[in-house]
Amino acid sequence: MGQIRRLILILFVFFAVGGGALVLGFYGYGVAGRIAERSEESVAASNRALGQKLLDRIERVIIDGDRNFFRLVSLDDPREFKALWRRIVRLSPAVNGVLVLDERGRVIHLVAQIAEKKERRRFRTFVNDVIVPDLALDKLPPEEHRHLHRSYQGKRFLFSYIRRHPTGAPDYFVLLQLNVPYFIEEVFEAEFGSVASSARISVLDDNGEPLFGQAIEEIGSLVFDENFPTTLYKWRLQVAPKALAEMSDQGRQRQYGDLALVASAVGIIIMGLAVIFFALRQEQRANALKSVFIANVTHELKTPLSIIRMFSELLALRGAKDAAALREYAEIITRESDRLSGLIDNVLDFSRIEGGKAAYHFAESDMTGVVQRVATLVAYRCEQAGVKLNVDLPSDLPRLMMDESAMILLLLNLVENAIKYGVRSEGAEIGLHLRRSDSKVLLTVSDNGPGIAKDERRRIFDRFYRSKSAQDSGTRGSGIGLSLVKHIAEAHGGRVSVRGDLGKGSIFEVCIPFD
Ligand code: ADP
Repeated sequence: MGQIRRLILILFVFFAVGGGALVLGFYGYGVAGRIAERSEESVAASNRALGQKLLDRIERVIIDGDRNFFRLVSLDDPREFKALWRRIVRLSPAVNGVLVLDERGRVIHLVAQIAEKKERRRFRTFVNDVIVPDLALDKLPPEEHRHLHRSYQGKRFLFSYIRRHPTGAPDYFVLLQLNVPYFIEEVFEAEFGSVASSARISVLDDNGEPLFGQAIEEIGSLVFDENFPTTLYKWRLQVAPKALAEMSDQGRQRQYGDLALVASAVGIIIMGLAVIFFALRQEQRANALKSVFIANVTHELKTPLSIIRMFSELLALRGAKDAAALREYAEIITRESDRLSGLIDNVLDFSRIEGGKAAYHFAESDMTGVVQRVATLVAYRCEQAGVKLNVDLPSDLPRLMMDESAMILLLLNLVENAIKYGVRSEGAEIGLHLRRSDSKVLLTVSDNGPGIAKDERRRIFDRFYRSKSAQDSGTRGSGIGLSLVKHIAEAHGGRVSVRGDLGKGSIFEVCIPFD
């Protein structure tokens, strides 16, 4: 119940913190996005203001110029008008021609920069037939000033006109034909040139063809795109910040950057949680194993102790039947106390290793001697258990730097396991082999016992781990022997592994390098 509650708590913390991290991540991403949006908005606003200012400026230049001309036009003396206007039209770059139309809209005076008479006549007909019908002169209030902007047979025209209302005389109209190329080449150049360093500017005609600058293809809030309001109203002015392409790229990159940042922060938090979760699970598993270990060790201690007690009480109360029985009792007591002290040694060594206090004392030593000593130590036990011990030692093995007593402990653990688990079959044999391979010493302990299942081969070296079959068969053990073997092998720069087929036995191999 307690475990379930703990698991629920861990899951709750996991989801609460993980969920919080996700919410924070999204919030952070939103804030970053809003900041970026605001800075884009302010760039767009100043770009809009610039576009509007440039439109107004061009309008002002055209309208003010027209007004100056209109002020000069007077019909008091038609001859003087012609003389004055011929000069003005010749000198003025902005006006190509001045026409005066009578009340009904018919051209009565024409002064234009057209040398040929025939051409002039044609122009007059063009104005009368094509332009005047579009002017809606009858609806034009006095002194009102308007523009007509249109293309005709591939030519671009801009006319500026006004109704005059003299006292005591009929109304008439003044029509200026403005010099369109002049506006494109001179006025646009002069007005837009000053901001060209910070902005991209273009003017497009009614077909979208650029007349000034290059058309701005990108669309979006950062591009100002509007028609001239009253003068060149068929044309559009486009204004965009000079670094438009980079800005949108930067914006996109920043967005990706923010997203990556937020995602990695959330990822790190979730990973951290996963690590904590994993560590807690490990801890929980280790605690569970520790309890099993304590139970195992206690049992392991109790069994030899009660055997020793039983036989010593027997001796004290009744004595032995004969010398052979006495020897047998003594041997049992010795064997069980050996097992007891072996177990205690293991537990003590294990606790030193667990506490990080394991200190090895390396000295030059002979591995063959170590194997021989272990073979002598276990000879009696093998005999008792009916196990044949085959020892195979080479003669040319170099001396190694090792902790001799640790190496004995390692070997004892492996051989005792082989006796413990390998004696099940008739004709049990244990092989103790030592050989040299390149710059390594290979020590193998083999048995023809039940072997170890593949999926358990790595776990048996974990502390407290006991295989299910070992537990089920009631074989005594504490689950620390092989973890000690592994630790000692690694402390000598080597490693331990196990192989063998299930049902045919196990081969434990310890590999210790030397140089
Ligand atoms: P234990 O006290 O259980 O023997 P060990 O750490 O020495 O602990 O061994 C871990 C497990 O490895 C054992 O429980 C057993 O299942 C398995 N094992 C070890 N040696 C052998 C072997 N020679 N044959 C089969 N299984 C073995």
